[in-house]
Amino acid sequence: MRLKQLKQNTSTELQLSWDDGHSGPISLQNLRDFCPCAGCKGETVLFRTYVPPSPTTNTPGRYELKGADPVGGYAMKFSWGDGHDLGIYTWEHLRSLCECKECLKNRSNALGQ
Ligand SMILES: [Zn+2]
Ligand SMILES: [Zn+2]
Repeated sequence: MRLKQLKQNTSTELQLSWDDGHSGPISLQNLRDFCPCAGCKGETVLFRTYVPPSPTTNTPGRYELKGADPVGGYAMKFSWGDGHDLGIYTWEHLRSLCECKECLKNRSNALGQ
């Protein structure tokens, strides 16, 4: 599974197309809130889990996408209006954020709802 195409749908949403024919939107807010970098996600070092301070959602530019660059053919790197650009989003991670009806339904089924 690889990302085939990424485009900005609206000022708050991206549209991703995958090489298996799947496509769906991801809101910039979710994309940023699920940033996989150590600073956002926390990191387990020597069995101690570092929990980052809760994200300040009012930082100017936090949900403003500035750039998207492919990384080594397996991931994307996004840069944000507040200067953050450390998150490497693997295809799997991006796909897990897909917000099409089908994926949302699968995810709520997985949660047993
Ligand atoms: Zn981050
Ligand atoms: Zn989907």
